[in-house]
Amino acid sequence: MKIVTKIWEIRQEIQKATNKNNTVGFVPTMGYLHEGHLSLMRAAKAQNEIAVASIFVNPTQFAPNEDLEKYPRDLERDASLAQKAGVDLLFVPAVEEIYPNGFNTYIEVCGDITSKLCGKSRPGHFKGVTTVVSKLFNIVLPDKAYFGQKDAQQVAVIEQMLRDLNYDIETVVCPIVRESDGLALSSRNVYLSEQERKDALILSQSLLEAEKMIQSGNQYVHQIKDFIWENIRSAKSATIDYIEIVNTKTLEDIDTIKGDVLIAIAVKIGKTRLIDNLKMEVL
Ligand code: AMP
Repeated sequence: MKIVTKIWEIRQEIQKATNKNNTVGFVPTMGYLHEGHLSLMRAAKAQNEIAVASIFVNPTQFAPNEDLEKYPRDLERDASLAQKAGVDLLFVPAVEEIYPNGFNTYIEVCGDITSKLCGKSRPGHFKGVTTVVSKLFNIVLPDKAYFGQKDAQQVAVIEQMLRDLNYDIETVVCPIVRESDGLALSSRNVYLSEQERKDALILSQSLLEAEKMIQSGNQYVHQIKDFIWENIRSAKSATIDYIEIVNTKTLEDIDTIKGDVLIAIAVKIGKTRLIDNLKMEVL
Protein backbone atom coordinates (compact mmCIF):
# COMPACT_ATOMS: atom_id res chain seq x y z
CA MET A 1 0.00 0.00 0.00
CA LYS A 2 1.25 3.44 -0.90
CA ILE A 3 0.40 6.49 1.23
CA VAL A 4 0.18 9.77 -0.67
CA THR A 5 -0.60 13.28 0.53
CA LYS A 6 -0.61 15.36 -2.66
CA ILE A 7 -3.32 15.56 -5.31
CA TRP A 8 -0.80 15.36 -8.17
CA GLU A 9 0.68 12.22 -6.60
CA ILE A 10 -2.58 10.33 -6.18
CA ARG A 11 -3.58 11.31 -9.73
CA GLN A 12 -0.29 9.99 -11.05
CA GLU A 13 -0.55 6.74 -9.08
CA ILE A 14 -4.12 6.12 -10.22
CA GLN A 15 -3.24 6.88 -13.83
CA LYS A 16 -0.40 4.35 -13.67
CA ALA A 17 -2.63 1.74 -12.07
CA THR A 18 -5.58 2.14 -14.42
CA ASN A 19 -3.94 2.10 -17.84
CA LYS A 20 -4.67 -1.64 -18.10
CA ASN A 21 -8.43 -1.06 -17.85
CA ASN A 22 -8.35 -1.69 -14.12
CA THR A 23 -11.35 -0.42 -12.18
CA VAL A 24 -11.03 1.76 -9.12
CA GLY A 25 -13.09 1.33 -5.97
CA PHE A 26 -12.95 4.30 -3.60
CA VAL A 27 -13.70 4.58 0.12
CA PRO A 28 -13.75 8.10 1.56
CA THR A 29 -13.37 8.22 5.36
CA MET A 30 -12.42 10.53 8.20
CA GLY A 31 -10.12 7.89 9.67
CA TYR A 32 -9.81 6.36 13.12
CA LEU A 33 -10.76 3.21 11.29
CA HIS A 34 -12.95 0.45 12.65
CA GLU A 35 -14.58 -2.67 11.20
CA GLY A 36 -17.29 -0.53 9.53
CA HIS A 37 -14.69 1.31 7.44
CA LEU A 38 -12.72 -1.89 6.87
CA SER A 39 -15.81 -3.69 5.51
CA LEU A 40 -16.07 -0.97 2.84
CA MET A 41 -12.38 -1.30 2.00
CA ARG A 42 -12.59 -5.08 1.68
CA ALA A 43 -15.63 -4.72 -0.60
CA ALA A 44 -13.78 -2.13 -2.71
CA LYS A 45 -10.84 -4.50 -3.15
CA ALA A 46 -13.05 -7.54 -3.82
CA GLN A 47 -14.96 -5.73 -6.59
CA ASN A 48 -12.13 -3.77 -8.23
CA GLU A 49 -8.50 -4.22 -9.20
CA ILE A 50 -7.52 -1.05 -7.35
CA ALA A 51 -8.82 -0.05 -3.92
CA VAL A 52 -8.28 3.59 -2.97
CA ALA A 53 -9.20 5.01 0.42
CA SER A 54 -8.91 8.51 1.80
CA ILE A 55 -8.53 9.77 5.33
CA PHE A 56 -9.50 13.40 5.70
CA VAL A 57 -11.21 15.01 8.68
CA ASN A 58 -13.15 17.49 6.60
CA PRO A 59 -13.46 20.85 8.39
CA THR A 60 -16.30 22.13 6.19
CA GLN A 61 -18.71 19.48 7.47
CA PHE A 62 -18.24 20.47 11.14
CA ALA A 63 -20.06 23.41 12.69
CA PRO A 64 -17.94 25.73 14.88
CA ASN A 65 -19.40 24.17 18.08
CA GLU A 66 -18.70 20.59 16.96
CA ASP A 67 -15.82 18.20 17.57
CA LEU A 68 -13.44 18.97 14.66
CA GLU A 69 -10.45 19.61 16.95
CA LYS A 70 -10.93 16.60 19.17
CA TYR A 71 -12.06 14.17 16.43
CA PRO A 72 -9.92 11.04 17.07
CA ARG A 73 -6.93 10.55 14.78
CA ASP A 74 -4.32 7.77 14.54
CA LEU A 75 -2.73 7.61 11.12
CA GLU A 76 -0.19 4.92 11.93
CA ARG A 77 -2.83 2.49 13.14
CA ASP A 78 -5.19 3.45 10.29
CA ALA A 79 -2.51 2.81 7.67
CA SER A 80 -1.80 -0.65 9.02
CA LEU A 81 -5.51 -1.55 9.16
CA ALA A 82 -6.17 -0.19 5.66
CA GLN A 83 -3.28 -2.16 4.25
CA LYS A 84 -4.57 -5.37 5.83
CA ALA A 85 -8.03 -4.66 4.38
CA GLY A 86 -6.52 -4.61 0.88
CA VAL A 87 -6.19 -0.88 0.17
CA ASP A 88 -3.64 -0.17 -2.57
CA LEU A 89 -3.52 3.61 -2.29
CA LEU A 90 -4.22 5.64 0.82
CA PHE A 91 -4.78 9.35 0.22
CA VAL A 92 -4.18 11.49 3.30
CA PRO A 93 -4.24 15.12 2.24
CA ALA A 94 -3.62 18.09 4.54
CA VAL A 95 -6.44 20.60 4.92
CA GLU A 96 -4.57 23.13 2.73
CA GLU A 97 -4.28 20.56 -0.06
CA ILE A 98 -8.07 20.27 -0.27
CA TYR A 99 -8.93 23.84 0.70
CA PRO A 100 -6.05 26.07 -0.46
CA ASN A 101 -6.12 29.80 0.19
CA GLY A 102 -8.84 31.41 -1.88
CA PHE A 103 -10.99 28.26 -2.09
CA ASN A 104 -14.52 29.49 -2.73
CA THR A 105 -16.68 26.87 -4.48
CA TYR A 106 -19.21 24.63 -2.74
CA ILE A 107 -21.51 21.84 -3.87
CA GLU A 108 -24.89 21.86 -2.18
CA VAL A 109 -27.79 19.46 -2.64
CA CYS A 110 -30.92 21.50 -1.91
CA GLY A 111 -34.40 20.62 -0.69
CA ASP A 112 -35.89 18.31 1.91
CA ILE A 113 -33.23 15.66 1.51
CA THR A 114 -30.63 17.88 3.20
CA SER A 115 -32.86 20.04 5.40
CA LYS A 116 -34.37 17.32 7.57
CA LEU A 117 -32.95 14.67 9.95
CA CYS A 118 -29.24 15.41 10.48
CA GLY A 119 -29.47 18.39 8.11
CA LYS A 120 -31.87 20.08 10.51
CA SER A 121 -29.68 19.75 13.59
CA ARG A 122 -26.42 20.19 11.68
CA PRO A 123 -27.05 23.00 9.18
CA GLY A 124 -24.30 23.18 6.56
CA HIS A 125 -23.10 19.66 7.35
CA PHE A 126 -24.17 18.09 4.06
CA LYS A 127 -22.87 21.05 2.06
CA GLY A 128 -19.46 20.23 3.53
CA VAL A 129 -19.92 16.52 2.80
CA THR A 130 -20.98 16.96 -0.83
CA THR A 131 -18.24 19.54 -1.45
CA VAL A 132 -15.48 17.28 -0.20
CA VAL A 133 -16.90 14.11 -1.75
CA SER A 134 -17.25 15.75 -5.15
CA LYS A 135 -13.67 17.05 -4.91
CA LEU A 136 -12.40 13.59 -3.92
CA PHE A 137 -14.37 12.03 -6.78
CA ASN A 138 -12.79 14.50 -9.23
CA ILE A 139 -9.34 13.66 -7.86
CA VAL A 140 -9.68 9.86 -7.66
CA LEU A 141 -12.10 9.33 -10.62
CA PRO A 142 -13.42 6.04 -9.17
CA ASP A 143 -15.67 3.57 -10.97
CA LYS A 144 -17.39 2.65 -7.74
CA ALA A 145 -17.61 4.45 -4.39
CA TYR A 146 -18.33 2.67 -1.12
CA PHE A 147 -20.48 4.08 1.67
CA GLY A 148 -21.98 2.71 4.87
CA GLN A 149 -25.71 2.33 5.49
CA LYS A 150 -24.86 3.71 8.96
CA ASP A 151 -25.03 7.20 7.39
CA ALA A 152 -28.29 6.59 5.53
CA GLN A 153 -28.99 10.26 4.82
CA GLN A 154 -25.45 10.78 3.54
CA VAL A 155 -26.04 7.96 1.04
CA ALA A 156 -29.31 9.54 -0.18
CA VAL A 157 -27.67 12.98 -0.49
CA ILE A 158 -24.62 11.69 -2.37
CA GLU A 159 -26.75 9.62 -4.74
CA GLN A 160 -28.82 12.73 -5.49
CA MET A 161 -25.63 14.70 -6.17
CA LEU A 162 -24.30 11.97 -8.48
CA ARG A 163 -27.56 11.98 -10.47
CA ASP A 164 -27.87 15.75 -10.61
CA LEU A 165 -24.25 16.36 -11.64
CA ASN A 166 -24.06 13.41 -14.08
CA TYR A 167 -21.21 11.67 -12.30
CA ASP A 168 -20.49 8.29 -13.88
CA ILE A 169 -19.83 6.61 -10.52
CA GLU A 170 -21.74 3.70 -9.01
CA THR A 171 -22.40 3.77 -5.28
CA VAL A 172 -22.14 0.56 -3.28
CA VAL A 173 -23.88 0.74 0.09
CA CYS A 174 -22.59 -1.69 2.73
CA PRO A 175 -24.53 -2.85 5.81
CA ILE A 176 -24.05 -1.35 9.27
CA VAL A 177 -21.31 -3.13 11.22
CA ARG A 178 -22.13 -3.46 14.92
CA GLU A 179 -20.43 -4.50 18.15
CA SER A 180 -21.56 -7.92 19.37
CA ASP A 181 -24.05 -6.22 21.72
CA GLY A 182 -25.60 -4.20 18.88
CA LEU A 183 -23.96 -0.77 19.16
CA ALA A 184 -23.22 0.54 15.66
CA LEU A 185 -19.50 1.09 15.24
CA SER A 186 -18.50 4.74 15.09
CA SER A 187 -15.21 6.59 15.50
CA ARG A 188 -17.07 8.74 18.04
CA ASN A 189 -17.79 5.76 20.34
CA VAL A 190 -14.40 6.43 21.99
CA TYR A 191 -15.92 9.56 23.56
CA LEU A 192 -18.34 7.44 25.64
CA SER A 193 -17.72 6.80 29.34
CA GLU A 194 -18.34 3.31 30.69
CA GLN A 195 -21.88 4.19 31.79
CA GLU A 196 -22.62 6.05 28.54
CA ARG A 197 -21.39 3.05 26.55
CA LYS A 198 -24.07 0.98 28.34
CA ASP A 199 -26.74 3.66 27.80
CA ALA A 200 -25.81 3.88 24.10
CA LEU A 201 -27.23 0.39 23.59
CA ILE A 202 -30.68 1.93 23.83
CA LEU A 203 -30.39 3.07 20.19
CA SER A 204 -29.94 -0.35 18.58
CA GLN A 205 -32.22 -2.03 21.12
CA SER A 206 -35.06 0.38 20.31
CA LEU A 207 -34.63 -0.18 16.59
CA LEU A 208 -34.67 -3.95 17.09
CA GLU A 209 -37.87 -3.73 19.13
CA ALA A 210 -39.41 -1.46 16.50
CA GLU A 211 -38.50 -4.01 13.83
CA LYS A 212 -40.32 -6.69 15.83
CA MET A 213 -43.40 -4.46 16.14
CA ILE A 214 -43.41 -3.96 12.37
CA GLN A 215 -42.82 -7.66 11.68
CA SER A 216 -45.80 -8.50 13.83
CA GLY A 217 -47.97 -6.25 11.67
CA ASN A 218 -47.93 -2.77 13.24
CA GLN A 219 -48.11 -0.23 10.41
CA TYR A 220 -48.72 2.91 12.47
CA VAL A 221 -45.84 5.34 12.12
CA HIS A 222 -46.79 7.32 15.23
CA GLN A 223 -47.02 4.19 17.40
CA ILE A 224 -43.59 3.02 16.34
CA LYS A 225 -42.15 6.52 16.86
CA ASP A 226 -43.79 6.89 20.28
CA PHE A 227 -42.46 3.51 21.33
CA ILE A 228 -38.88 4.39 20.32
CA TRP A 229 -39.20 7.81 21.96
CA GLU A 230 -40.33 6.37 25.31
CA ASN A 231 -37.76 3.60 25.19
CA ILE A 232 -34.83 5.92 24.54
CA ARG A 233 -35.99 8.40 27.17
CA SER A 234 -35.56 5.67 29.76
CA ALA A 235 -31.76 5.90 29.39
CA LYS A 236 -30.50 8.53 31.81
CA SER A 237 -27.81 10.11 29.67
CA ALA A 238 -29.90 10.15 26.45
CA THR A 239 -31.21 13.32 24.81
CA ILE A 240 -33.18 12.67 21.65
CA ASP A 241 -32.29 14.79 18.63
CA TYR A 242 -34.73 13.11 16.23
CA ILE A 243 -36.65 9.92 15.56
CA GLU A 244 -37.92 9.86 11.99
CA ILE A 245 -39.62 7.27 9.84
CA VAL A 246 -39.23 8.09 6.14
CA ASN A 247 -38.89 6.64 2.66
CA THR A 248 -35.35 5.22 2.36
CA LYS A 249 -34.57 6.81 -1.00
CA THR A 250 -36.36 10.17 -0.92
CA LEU A 251 -36.36 10.67 2.87
CA GLU A 252 -39.97 11.87 2.50
CA ASP A 253 -42.28 11.32 5.47
CA ILE A 254 -44.54 8.29 5.17
CA ASP A 255 -48.02 7.81 6.65
CA THR A 256 -47.94 4.04 7.02
CA ILE A 257 -45.13 1.56 7.37
CA LYS A 258 -45.04 0.31 3.78
CA GLY A 259 -42.48 0.02 0.99
CA ASP A 260 -38.88 1.19 1.53
CA VAL A 261 -38.97 2.22 5.16
CA LEU A 262 -36.11 3.90 7.01
CA ILE A 263 -36.24 4.48 10.74
CA ALA A 264 -33.48 6.97 11.47
CA ILE A 265 -32.53 8.19 14.92
CA ALA A 266 -30.03 10.62 16.38
CA VAL A 267 -29.48 10.69 20.12
CA LYS A 268 -27.00 12.47 22.31
CA ILE A 269 -25.54 10.17 24.94
CA GLY A 270 -24.02 12.63 27.35
CA LYS A 271 -22.22 15.00 24.99
CA THR A 272 -21.73 12.45 22.21
CA ARG A 273 -24.16 12.54 19.31
CA LEU A 274 -24.82 9.05 17.91
CA ILE A 275 -26.88 8.02 14.91
CA ASP A 276 -28.34 4.68 13.97
CA ASN A 277 -30.99 3.40 11.59
CA LEU A 278 -32.99 0.47 10.40
CA LYS A 279 -33.89 -0.12 6.78
CA MET A 280 -36.82 -2.39 5.96
CA GLU A 281 -38.79 -3.39 2.93
CA VAL A 282 -42.37 -3.81 4.07
CA LEU A 283 -44.95 -5.38 1.74
P1 AMP B 1 -16.61 8.34 8.53
O1 AMP B 1 -15.16 8.07 8.69
O2 AMP B 1 -17.37 8.33 9.80
O3 AMP B 1 -16.87 9.56 7.67
O4 AMP B 1 -17.19 7.12 7.71
C1 AMP B 1 -16.65 6.73 6.46
C2 AMP B 1 -17.55 5.71 5.83
O5 AMP B 1 -17.66 4.57 6.69
C3 AMP B 1 -18.99 6.23 5.61
O6 AMP B 1 -19.46 5.77 4.35
C4 AMP B 1 -19.74 5.61 6.74
O7 AMP B 1 -21.11 5.42 6.47
C5 AMP B 1 -19.03 4.26 6.88
N1 AMP B 1 -19.27 3.72 8.21
C6 AMP B 1 -19.08 4.33 9.42
N2 AMP B 1 -19.48 3.52 10.43
C7 AMP B 1 -19.94 2.38 9.85
C8 AMP B 1 -20.50 1.17 10.37
N3 AMP B 1 -20.66 0.97 11.67
N4 AMP B 1 -20.86 0.22 9.49
C9 AMP B 1 -20.71 0.42 8.14
N5 AMP B 1 -20.19 1.53 7.60
C10 AMP B 1 -19.81 2.50 8.44
